[in-house]
Amino acid sequence: MAQEQNTQKLEREIQPLQDSDAEQVVRWALERFDDQVALASSFGVEDMVLTDMMLRISPRARIFTLDTGRLPKETYDLMERVRERYGVRIEVFAPQSSQLEKMISESGPNAFYRSIELRRLCCNVRKVEPLGRALQSLSAWICGLRRAQAVTRQELKKLEIDEAHGGMLKINPLLEWSDKEAWNYVMERDVPYNVLHDRSYPSIGCAPCTRAVQPGEDIRAGRWWWETPEQKECGLHRTGSSKTDTTGGQ
Ligand code: SF4
Repeated sequence: MAQEQNTQKLEREIQPLQDSDAEQVVRWALERFDDQVALASSFGVEDMVLTDMMLRISPRARIFTLDTGRLPKETYDLMERVRERYGVRIEVFAPQSSQLEKMISESGPNAFYRSIELRRLCCNVRKVEPLGRALQSLSAWICGLRRAQAVTRQELKKLEIDEAHGGMLKINPLLEWSDKEAWNYVMERDVPYNVLHDRSYPSIGCAPCTRAVQPGEDIRAGRWWWETPEQKECGLHRTGSSKTDTTGGQ
């Protein structure tokens, strides 16, 4: 009952913010939740916009990342550049070694190419379980999801109750931003970005599951390219309590 009342109170609080711009939303989140809110960064261009925006508003802003162990070298290089440029401590959550050892021993290191089930198992071990631990200490999380990124992201809201993660608040400040707006921000402020973006990688995840796209291809075409668009989710951004993949993906 108390939980339900808190959720209703939060829903009333966030309603007027749905039409606010990205910076207003980020500022509100940092003031409202202080160290109980953090950015979930995979170091894509949207995450770099939010990193810069958050740290300009508050140098104490928290950033965490999921180190799957299979990220491209270029992403680790960017992590180093972000640490140097902003002097920020990036909180890292890695897969549990026992789960990783079991999965690789039983199915091999590249099992994700063989079936959707094995791909989802890998994403669960390397991303979803660590995300659950990362969110445990938070009341709200900030993500770089944009509606234009994927067919699976059409129903998102800028601020929403995240039922899949215990009713905490999930904030997508850049939801209505275009690709061009994100890049304009990065270029105007000389924000560091992943050099893979310059090599036709608009969306970057783990190295074995990401490839460059061809001119005219969808921006998510290089992610899990052997699967159909509606299957291309890793479970990080679920909606509802059913734990069904319906939105998002790192
Ligand atoms: S994106 Fe690929 S390598 Fe990374 S966790 Fe998912 S299946 Fe595993």
